[in-house]
Amino acid sequence: MAYRFPLSVSIIYLSISDAHLICIFFVLLKMSFQNTREYALLQDQADPLHSFRDEFLIPKQNGKQIIYLCGNSLGLQPKSTKTYIQEQLDNWENLGVEGWFEGETPWMFYHKELQKLMAPIVGAKAEEVIPMNNLTVNLHLMMVSFYRPKDKRYKILMEGGAFPSDQYAVESQIRFHGYDPQDAIIEIHPRKGEETLRTEDILSKINEHADELALVLFGGINYYTGQYFDLEAITKAGHEAGAYVGFDLAHAAGNVPLKLHDWNVDFACWCTYKYMNSSPGGISGVYIHEKHFNNKELNRFAGWWGYEATNRFKMTKGFVPERGAEGWQLSCSPVLMMAAHKASLVLFKEAGGMDILNKKSIQLTDFLEFIINDINKHIGYKQFHIITPKSAKERGCQLSIIAKKHGKIIFDELVKQHVIGDWREPDVIRISPVPFYNTFMDVFEFGHILKDICNRLKISK
Ligand SMILES: *Cc1c(COP(=O)(O)O)cnc(C)c1O
Repeated sequence: MAYRFPLSVSIIYLSISDAHLICIFFVLLKMSFQNTREYALLQDQADPLHSFRDEFLIPKQNGKQIIYLCGNSLGLQPKSTKTYIQEQLDNWENLGVEGWFEGETPWMFYHKELQKLMAPIVGAKAEEVIPMNNLTVNLHLMMVSFYRPKDKRYKILMEGGAFPSDQYAVESQIRFHGYDPQDAIIEIHPRKGEETLRTEDILSKINEHADELALVLFGGINYYTGQYFDLEAITKAGHEAGAYVGFDLAHAAGNVPLKLHDWNVDFACWCTYKYMNSSPGGISGVYIHEKHFNNKELNRFAGWWGYEATNRFKMTKGFVPERGAEGWQLSCSPVLMMAAHKASLVLFKEAGGMDILNKKSIQLTDFLEFIINDINKHIGYKQFHIITPKSAKERGCQLSIIAKKHGKIIFDELVKQHVIGDWREPDVIRISPVPFYNTFMDVFEFGHILKDICNRLKISK
């Protein structure tokens, strides 16, 4: 026995990989969470990003800041947004049309700075991204380029239960090309009794339909479940099948670190009013991999703003695209929306980028998960069921929570007490602590109020 002990220890040691060690670390971290005000306060004091909360305008009710956990739907307004917009209003006031070429930030080149700021957030080169239009419009424009049905290869594969706008965009594109959506859309659903998709099932579905797929179009993070898909693996499988692969990153951009270029993703688009805090209905972002810049085979719907910049104002016949994502622009820049976007993009840079934000995001969301489970323990049964995956690799900051009893009543009670999450039919409460402006205290207070509501409703087994 005496000599076997170290042997078995070393066997255990050898069988523990780095991944396991990291898991153990996080298990220990989670074990150390406490559902107390003191604990939350200490975490906030230790948080290197804590001062960024002051950069945002937190809505108030009755003079008190509300608990805003809804960055998944509309990010809060940076205090600097007004300044950035005012700057362009002043240019307009003082320069009139000359503002396109004059002033400190001529509108003609205003997007250049934005490209540089956007690129690291989604893991792209500056010329691979461009702010333009709105998200659904861009989904259509991207499908004009990357949905090229031909012969047997005319189908689009997407996640079941995708955001409705994406479903409608895909449906209508398919009809536009003369196909039947019932036949041409392949949706992947979770296995029976499961709520989220398994990567292996996504990949095998792609494989299974390899000969028919023209396009794989997936959400980056599903809006309903909060599941963050393995975009790299999906891209690889889609390409092996001979299809283009694009992502709607509405819930992923500014929420999780992305590496679109390295993952070889063909295209992506996202809105900037969710995790990117760039104003309601604000400008959308688009990414196109550089390998497509010179591909003359790609269709695109063109407009003068996508024309080769040096010759744009010669106003000649015959469209010649500008190199890069800029070549997909149609209309002249909506400068005020871009100004709002810039205010927020500058904050992403000042915070040190997505990896740093994500570190806090993981802690905050794990803390939220801990609090929910603690309330379940208090109630004595699993009243709150989190359908979002547990692993930080498979989620951003959003947790989608199904309340077994009185879901809508509980949600309405939360709102009455100035806790803002959101309700998604049929039965999910989405709660998203955003690392920029949410605190551990927000999460604690949310839990405190939720527990109180459950007590009052006398929820028990
Ligand atoms: C929010 C969201 C949209 C909204 O599209 P708009 O064109 O900006 O209105 C579309 N798709 C997904 C996946 C979303 O999460």
